[in-house]
Amino acid sequence: MPAPCPPFKRLLSGYTENDKTGCWEWTGHKYRNGYGVLKVFGRDVSAHRYSYELHNGPIKAGFSILHSCDNKSCINPEHLRQGTHAENMAEAKERGLMKSKQKGRPSPAKGIRNVSAKPVYVLGRVYGSMNEAERELCLGSGTVRFWTLNNPQKAKLISREEYQNAQ
Ligand SMILES: [Zn+2]
Repeated sequence: MPAPCPPFKRLLSGYTENDKTGCWEWTGHKYRNGYGVLKVFGRDVSAHRYSYELHNGPIKAGFSILHSCDNKSCINPEHLRQGTHAENMAEAKERGLMKSKQKGRPSPAKGIRNVSAKPVYVLGRVYGSMNEAERELCLGSGTVRFWTLNNPQKAKLISREEYQNAQ
């Protein structure tokens, strides 16, 4: 039996995906400023920052996590990136000017064909498929695929032989 699911699981099930924008909209508690918040081991944590860290690694001291989609409740790691406060302000201003044009259609995961059934290495272990890894690790659907694209140190596709050898 897998261990009980930690806050990670709660985070990754605490949103609904917006089909139009691709945003993962936080459905849990929110700060007054509109950002999602959750308790992690007794501490209040920003949902979008937490999501960023889980998917992309630690946030540098003094850096903000910026939303490319301008949706404060969004925790989709593909819509989040690190930046300075000054950058954040500049971007908001720029977006204000071109808002009418922007409909926000994020590109779907690129370069990945039918790979979800292939063996995959995730966080130090191998699994028969992305789905299996997500199930066992309590990850949200799509997390492992995202990692294989952006964080090869966390997850990468492997060959059948590598999988068998590691069993
Ligand atoms: Zn978004």
